[in-house]
Amino acid sequence: MNLITKVPRFKKILTIFFILTFALTAVVSAQVRYVVIPESPRPGDPFTVAVNAAATEAQLIVNGRQVAKAACFYMPAEGGQPSFTAAILAIPDDIAYNTAIIRIINRNVICEIPITFTAREFRTETIRLTPELTNLVSVPDPQKTAESQRLWEILTTMGTQVYHTGAFLLPITSTRRTSQFGTRRVNLYSDGRRIPSTHAGVDFGAPTGTEVTACGRGMVILSRMRIVTGNTVIIEHAPGVYSIYYHLDSVIAQEGSIVEAGSLIALSGSTGFSTGPHLHWEIRVSTINTDPDAFTGSPLIDKELIISRIYN
Ligand SMILES: [Zn+2]
Repeated sequence: MNLITKVPRFKKILTIFFILTFALTAVVSAQVRYVVIPESPRPGDPFTVAVNAAATEAQLIVNGRQVAKAACFYMPAEGGQPSFTAAILAIPDDIAYNTAIIRIINRNVICEIPITFTAREFRTETIRLTPELTNLVSVPDPQKTAESQRLWEILTTMGTQVYHTGAFLLPITSTRRTSQFGTRRVNLYSDGRRIPSTHAGVDFGAPTGTEVTACGRGMVILSRMRIVTGNTVIIEHAPGVYSIYYHLDSVIAQEGSIVEAGSLIALSGSTGFSTGPHLHWEIRVSTINTDPDAFTGSPLIDKELIISRIYN
């Protein structure tokens, strides 16, 4: 008798369990609200994606292929404002205009956000290299290989700290730009080769010894001489977000120290692969070259806008 009644009861419990699970899943997915800032970024632009749910990773998927990913970080509630989870990503500058999705992961996919890109044109320029510069970039050297490996290791490291949330400051007072972000270059080597490249940052012409300041608060990850980029400083500002300063005459910032926005980190120069005194300023977001100007006009993490969009 007992056996006969137990089976239907078990089935009933199982059915209720499944109904509850489905209902809960529906409620959870319905509750995931998101915002993407800016709404339609251009190739080479950063963007912030934020959700009102726990998440570990954000992925940018274009034509079914993952082109970028970043760790999500938690922004705790403060000043009576609610908490949220965010990630900073970037659109690669060589991507064809297309529609794409951002996938938010918390073990499984918790939401898929459609995103469109705004088309963009880049300039072109030709750079004629001296035999010395041709050798600098083309002669194999184990130290150069080790230095690129170290750089890649830094750029692929996703920390958890958010050191800076506001807009970035320009790192130098010079307004004389000698090369823009994303410029398609043809390098004319002294041996006749024509090697294409893309300019990953912004160049400011400045006399050797001009003060270079941190564009934002952050942790100094590298501050030393490198063969190709000369004296170099790299600062981490948020998970996957690094500012980079090349061809410096000398470095002042100490590796491992925290620097404030606007604090002196180096003096500009013309060390490494450089054709004249200038500062090369570059920003990487989850390894992607990103337009530095996109960071000076609006906050890195626009807390107020995020909260107003996902909670109101
Ligand atoms: Zn440059």
